[in-house]
Amino acid sequence: MSTPYRGRFAPSPTGPLHFGSLVSALASYLDAKQKNGRWIIRIEDVDGARCTPFFAQQIITTLNSYQLYSDEPILYQSNFSAAYEAKLYELKKQLKVFPCNCTRQSLTKHNGHHPFICQSDTSRPHSWRLKSCQQSYEYQDPIQGRLLFSNDLEITSPVLKRKDGYFSYQLAVVVDDHQQNITHLVRGADLIETTAQQLYLYELFGWVTPSICHIPLIVNLSGDKVSKQNHAQAIKNGNLHTLIRALHYLKINVTNATSINEALILATQQWNPSKLISIDKIKLEEQDQDLI
Ligand SMILES: [Zn+2]
Repeated sequence: MSTPYRGRFAPSPTGPLHFGSLVSALASYLDAKQKNGRWIIRIEDVDGARCTPFFAQQIITTLNSYQLYSDEPILYQSNFSAAYEAKLYELKKQLKVFPCNCTRQSLTKHNGHHPFICQSDTSRPHSWRLKSCQQSYEYQDPIQGRLLFSNDLEITSPVLKRKDGYFSYQLAVVVDDHQQNITHLVRGADLIETTAQQLYLYELFGWVTPSICHIPLIVNLSGDKVSKQNHAQAIKNGNLHTLIRALHYLKINVTNATSINEALILATQQWNPSKLISIDKIKLEEQDQDLI
């Protein structure tokens, strides 16, 4: 018997849910539901400096208003620091990480290279970085096709634990997905660049890599990602029009749906990732300007 499908949507609560993240949430939800899988919400609040419980609750409320409910209790990354510490310790023993007290300025000065001295004084605040690996990674993305990551370009010593003591997304996401037995990741194409680092971590931990598929990124009229950084606003809760328009960017047409419930049922039938093949960006249409 094959492993049961387990998918997830894992937002960072640094702001309210915006249109771009609704599209991502829907893609992961529809993929899971169409394959009779479980869909799990996980709150990626590992960055305690930027995430707030207020936004976490607001995101969950908004998802639920679109009838996107987690099939299992919602986990919060901030509760799992001990697990991340344990994995970091393992990497330290394998000599796959190094302490670094470089500042952004000193890295720029050395063209991104770490002068040996950065690793010698661990009495000063330091981060822990993954050592570069020389190998290339090739990955077959069900939507984006063959992705080739040739190192060292892609794996540039990412930080796993920051100077301020917080763990990075890179480490946390791999540990969490493994602990929750996630089998399928459906996420935005902006995360393609982090894939090689994650594949490398899976390899170091000896874990099976989940299927990873990247859906097109919604970009605004100036070509920038619809994101919190680009001031995307909160979407309305439980708004059928917003849902129909979000599904439109996944090549799903449910304009005749009269309720959110009906729209989701029709969308689950229509979801066909092969319609998105090789598309990494979709420009937001003029009529949807007021949704972001
Ligand atoms: Zn350094």
